[in-house]
Amino acid sequence: MAKKQKTGIMGGTFDPIHVGHLVTAEAVRIEYGLDKVLFIPAGNPPHKQDTGVTPAIHRYIMTVMATYSNPHFFVSPIEIDRAGPSYTIDTIRALNTQYGEQTDFYFITGADAVVDLPTWENIDEILNLCNFIAAARPGCDGDLDKVINYFGEKGRRRIFRLATPELEISATDIRERVKQGRSIKYIVPESVESYIHKEGLYL
Ligand code: NAP
Repeated sequence: MAKKQKTGIMGGTFDPIHVGHLVTAEAVRIEYGLDKVLFIPAGNPPHKQDTGVTPAIHRYIMTVMATYSNPHFFVSPIEIDRAGPSYTIDTIRALNTQYGEQTDFYFITGADAVVDLPTWENIDEILNLCNFIAAARPGCDGDLDKVINYFGEKGRRRIFRLATPELEISATDIRERVKQGRSIKYIVPESVESYIHKEGLYL
């Protein structure tokens, strides 16, 4: 029988993608022995309907540029191409159909997002279909235990934490820095920095 593939799904708004995201994805890839990591920029984040998220095309292009040099990293427009709110259940179902039972999925995202899992649409089904890796800033994952316990045995089997000091970097801070004319050098890849300035994002 063919060996099962392990695919990471790096879900995020990526507004913009930064070095913290990239270091996290690479750390999970190595620690969990993933064959590849699929970055999926959220098209229309369900929990950000009233906030001004940067148009998906910009976030998608920046994600492609940031990940291009890593042979294990890929980017999918699946959520950007789909109309309506980007519910994770729709993405996981589509990937499950596309890749079949020979793939184990690891959804990688921020611990703050994982803490909200009980409110996600069809979360029971999502937890049947994939594992979660919660990337946590050191000392900021207190609520993660509560969420793991909330789901009981399934939570303990499916939800894992990864301490990522690099997540001191935040997309919110980067947007603020650009607005204030401060440097974002070395906290985003050079290509992303150039793109942000060329397109006049976050001013
Ligand atoms: P968010 O609320 O903007 O982010 C929460 C925290 O997690 C932030 O500190 C963020 O840092 C960090 N983060 C986000 N993505 C990350 C990643 N891939 N790796 C490491 N840290 C990450 O969360 P979001 O980015 O909009 O959403 C995260 C994912 O959850 C997306 O795929 C989204 O579609 C999904 N989601 C689904 C539902 C649903 O199906 N109902 C509801 C909510 C979220 P930065 O700000 O620095 O990125």
